[in-house]
Order: sequence, then structure tokens, then C-alpha cells
Amino acid sequence: MAVKGFLRIEGDDNHLIWHLDRDDPEDKQILARVESVYLITDAAGAPLVWSGSYKDLGFDQPAYVKQVLSTRVQPVWQEKRDASGVRYLIRASYVLNETRTGKFYVAIGKSLAANDKLLTQFTWLCLALMPLVVVIGIGTGWVVAGRALQPVMAIARAAQRISGSNLSLRIPERQAKDELEYLVETFNDMISRLEQSFIQMRQFSTDVSHELRTPITVIRGQLEVALFTAHTTEQYRDAIVTALGDVERLSQIVRALLLLSQAETGQVVLQLQPLDLVETARGITEQFEIPAEGAGVDISFRAGSMKCTGEFDRVQIERMLSNLISNAVKFTPPGGNVRVSADRAGDCAEIVVEDTGRGIAPEHLPHIFDRFYRVRGMEEQASPEKGLGLGLSFVNWIVRAHAGTIDVKSEPGKGTTFTVRLPFHPHPPDTTVTDNTREMVMKPV
Ligand code: ADP
Repeated sequence: MAVKGFLRIEGDDNHLIWHLDRDDPEDKQILARVESVYLITDAAGAPLVWSGSYKDLGFDQPAYVKQVLSTRVQPVWQEKRDASGVRYLIRASYVLNETRTGKFYVAIGKSLAANDKLLTQFTWLCLALMPLVVVIGIGTGWVVAGRALQPVMAIARAAQRISGSNLSLRIPERQAKDELEYLVETFNDMISRLEQSFIQMRQFSTDVSHELRTPITVIRGQLEVALFTAHTTEQYRDAIVTALGDVERLSQIVRALLLLSQAETGQVVLQLQPLDLVETARGITEQFEIPAEGAGVDISFRAGSMKCTGEFDRVQIERMLSNLISNAVKFTPPGGNVRVSADRAGDCAEIVVEDTGRGIAPEHLPHIFDRFYRVRGMEEQASPEKGLGLGLSFVNWIVRAHAGTIDVKSEPGKGTTFTVRLPFHPHPPDTTVTDNTREMVMKPV
């Protein structure tokens, strides 16, 4: 309140003059406000003029007046209460008299009754509205949380419905492009992978039981026939020899299966050692010269110009080569050729096994690396020795374990080419070794 601009104290009797136009409604309002609660004292604190209401509040002590007059911080504020407890905010300052020789203490107050009333009303209003706000808050939270959790509940319900027998079920996608959608997609992907594994497992057990049942039935038949029809020791001997051949085939299947499942479940660790692939491939090719000659097939080996020494598992590489070359010889008719070569191709060693045999039809190509997959009806013609359908599964595992790739190109009636690329320094996963994995499972040709 700019009191100093309106107030002047004149003459020896400290005459008080308000410089205001009492006819001006604004000035009149200011004066009414200032005059309603005010006190003017001399420098010693003796009251000179005051309003009735200020007297009710009690005059300010001379010590306080002197303190206000001497303080540099102007104005000084204090709070007072009248007899009925109404609070007043008092603003204390000073004015100089006309000749600027004397200081006068001027305190002007303002009732805080209206503020207090407003504050009280506001407090009550808050208290009254608080339960309502809490109820609305809880209600809104409930609805919002319910909506937000609805998809989660849907996911949970769908997940509960999915079991081993209905893995084809999927959680419906919401097309919302949010985190929950991502969760749903991830969940569905996981179920797809599980479903794939279940299908493979089922297929595998069907294949195994089928593969084992056939030789068992044959052995049983042979023994029964021998029991009822054989008369001489020679006839019994023949029956036993034939049955033993089938028992051997049976144990070969079991051994191969065991080994393959150990390999695929990571129980086989590669025993890497420096190995010259050119020499290894040459050696295995030579091993097939006699059987190839017997089948009327010309087999040859060609070494590339570069050295092919890297870190490989000798036993597994020999197994891989043996399987590929024996297939090539087995499925090539007399008069055909089998060409094996080993060379360096960039960072990898490249082994190619190529034949001019019967080839593989395009519809069979994607499946030839599957366990027990055989192009039925044809290998019996190609060779009296029935294949297990496991050879290429081994080849595939060995190549993958060496972090390599295998590629097959085939044209029915013209021939097949298998191309294996192996990095010189593979980093296979660290797994444990079991003794029987070192056993060679070589195919008879
Ligand atoms: P198998 O023990 O029956 O040879 P594999 O897993 O080694 O089993 O091969 C799977 C099938 O792929 C074979 O039955 C054969 O039909 C086909 N196959 C593999 N190699 C050749 C090849 N060089 N030429 C023609 N067919 C082949």
C-alpha cells in the first residue's frame, strides 16, 4: 500500500493530511481501507492518531516502534489478533514530516477474516470432497487397470487352453503394435517352435518303431520257417546266419540312432585337431576303390592347388566323407563316375562329391537330410543293401557341428553333386563326449 504517497504530516502539532480526492471513488476506497485499521505514532512510540479497530488490537510497544524506525528493511510485517480472535496483518513503516526532520511510525492493518473464512471454507470443501475424489479415483483406476489387463487375461486364458495335444492353438493377435502385441507374437513363436519339436518327436518315434519292427518281423519269420521246415544242420545254420545278418542290421540301426540323438542333443563334442582335408578325402576315396570297381563305377580323386589344413574332427570328417561317397557309389549305375575333390575356397575348405548316378527328384531334395528319409523303391534296385536313411542326417550334423554348410544339386537321371564347405577354425559348442561316439558308423556299399 503506497501510503507514503498519500500521507503528509505537517506543523508542530503533527497535523495529518491525506492527499486524496475524497470525491474520487477509487481514492475514497483506498482511504477507507487505510483508515479502517491504522496507527501513527511519533518516533518514541507515543500514539498520535489511530483507528478504533487498531486500538482494539493494542498499540504497538515503543521498543517495537523504534525497531521498525531503525530497520533498513521496510516495511515490517506482523500479525495481530483482536479480542474476538480475528487475525490482522499489520504493515509497519515510517513517513517523514513536512520538513523531513522527524520520523513517524505508520502501521496499517488489514483484517484477514475474509481470507480465514475462505481458507476454512476451502478446507471443509476439500474434506467433504475427499471421499468422493477417493471413490472416483479408485473407480477410474479399477476400470483403467481392468482394461489394461484384459489382454493379459486373454493371453493367460489362451495359454491355459494350449497343451501337448493342441499345440496348433495360437493366441489371437490384437494388431495393436504395443508391448503386449510383442508378447503375444513371442508367445506364439514359442508355441510354433514347441509344436515343431513335438511333430519331430512324434515322427521320430513312429519312424523308429517302424524301422525296428521290420527287421524283427523278418528275423521272426526266418526263425519260424527254419523251425518248421529245416531238417538238416546245414539248413538250421543257414537260417541262423540270415537271422544274424538281420540282427546285425538291427543293432546297426540302434547304434546309429543312439549316436545321432547324442550328437543332436549336444552330447558329442568335436575333437578338433590339425587335419589335412586333401589327404583325408584322398584316403577315404581310396577305401571305396574296390567296392566301386565291384559296382562297375569309376571313382577318382582330384586335389586342389591349395593346402587344406585346418582344425577338424578326424573321425567325424571321415564319417561324413564315407557317407557321401558310399551314397554316390551306391546310387550310380555301372559305367558311371564318382568324382571327389578337395580344395580351398576363401576361408573354407571345399569338398565336392559328384556322381553321374540316378539323381534325386526335386520333391525329395528338401527331405534327404531328415532321419530315415529314403527315396523309397529305388535304392533296393540300386543296391541289394538297404539304406538306413540316417547317413545324410549324420552328414548334416557333422557339417553343422563344424560350423560349415552343405549344398546339394541334383538332376534325375544325370547325377548329384554334394558340396561341403567347412571353415578352417570352427568354434563348435562345448559339450561332453561319450565313448561310443568315436565308433565309426560306415555304410556298407
Ligand atoms: P541311405 O542310408 O538310405 O543312403 P541317406 O540319408 O544317406 O540314407 O540318404 C537318403 C536318401 O537320399 C537315399 O535313400 C537316397 O534316396 C538319396 N540319396 C542320397 N545320396 C544320393 C546320391 N548320391 N544319389 C542319389 N540319391 C541319393
